Amino acid sequence: MSTVSLVKVKQDDEKGIAEAVRRAVDIVGGLDDIVKTGDLVLINPNLVAVPSGRVTGAISRWEVCKAIADLVLEKGGRPVIAESSAAGVDTEKVIEAGEYTRLREQGYEVIDLKTTPRTKIAVPEGHKVFSELGSWELVRKADVIISVPVMKTHDQTEVTLSMKNLKGLIDDPTKKAFHRDGLLEGVVDLMTALKPELTVFDATVCQEGMGPIFGTPVPMGLILASRDYVAADAVGGKIMGYDPKDVMITVRAAARGIGEMDLDKIEVRGDVSIADVERRFKRASETVIEGVPPFKLMLDEGACTGCRNTVISAIMDLKSQGLEGCLEGKYVIAGPLDEKLIPPCAEKDKTILVGICAKHLEGRGTYVQGCPPNNIFIVRAIVGEGQKIERRYATEEGADDQSGETK
Ligand code: SF4
Repeated sequence: MSTVSLVKVKQDDEKGIAEAVRRAVDIVGGLDDIVKTGDLVLINPNLVAVPSGRVTGAISRWEVCKAIADLVLEKGGRPVIAESSAAGVDTEKVIEAGEYTRLREQGYEVIDLKTTPRTKIAVPEGHKVFSELGSWELVRKADVIISVPVMKTHDQTEVTLSMKNLKGLIDDPTKKAFHRDGLLEGVVDLMTALKPELTVFDATVCQEGMGPIFGTPVPMGLILASRDYVAADAVGGKIMGYDPKDVMITVRAAARGIGEMDLDKIEVRGDVSIADVERRFKRASETVIEGVPPFKLMLDEGACTGCRNTVISAIMDLKSQGLEGCLEGKYVIAGPLDEKLIPPCAEKDKTILVGICAKHLEGRGTYVQGCPPNNIFIVRAIVGEGQKIERRYATEEGADDQSGETK
């Protein structure tokens, strides 16, 4: 039977979180048979993009990673906290925003994977989408991988937990390929390639609504751990009010025999039960973007997180600069939308087509190239030439490269 630990954080500070992480890991067997002396242990937090605040449920807290690193050090391992942020986002800026620099000052290794040597990782037989994945030498060399997601909702996959968090261990072109060729099975392919040993959730402060970045913080005061990623995601999702069968990555991973999603076959041990802490999280799809003038957002169901988030991010950029008035009467379209669905009143100079999936509509409006495009190009297309605009969090490099392949 798979085991998931659920531990209350009695005190929301470094000491209290460290104590909770230790107990959560101990309950699922500790590190004795996972970490050997000299092992390179890759600890992968969620550092997807610069959050609105350090503890807002958008990124994993350094306190959780430090606690895990200390457990690894006790076993004689070499802990390395490593991540690559979303495509087009400078990981180093997220490291700074998350104050992981404090760990560096204390001698811990915190690494922006995007600055390290790349390699390919083979996916074993039975893969559904990818036979190999673009990644980094450090990931390939790791003896042990520990995913440290923050518990939150996500605009395309409902939730993003231990398995999807591992996307931080593939390079930007591969991240984009996931969205183009198959995100759900791609994540399961990634699981089979990496075979991660343990997951520890930062569920101290979670996030609901427009995840992965723009949601609302939800204090939960929990740490969850498991050696079974599918079981961990089933339990984490259930705490957020999702039946495991409603989370497609969980379903597909269980279907490939990677772990257990049947809650009746998962033992939950620790301070609380699922029922004690279950709370329905607001879904990303229930988010209303307020304070913008009337405009039409047409996200085809085939539009992946890349364009969905980029469009939302671009709208947030407009709002933060007081330029949201430029949206009035515009049509913003992403994904492989059927041309017949575009209303005749959508004039060419008021229509913005986002990403290569909308290229077939190029003659119907201003086409913004990329997969996904950099949000600054969407903002530019909305406001028109001649307006001074700024960028909120994406990297400056490649800003004028319409390929969208910023590093
Ligand atoms: S163009 Fe946008 S919707 Fe299409 S695959 Fe790329 S990121 Fe996803």
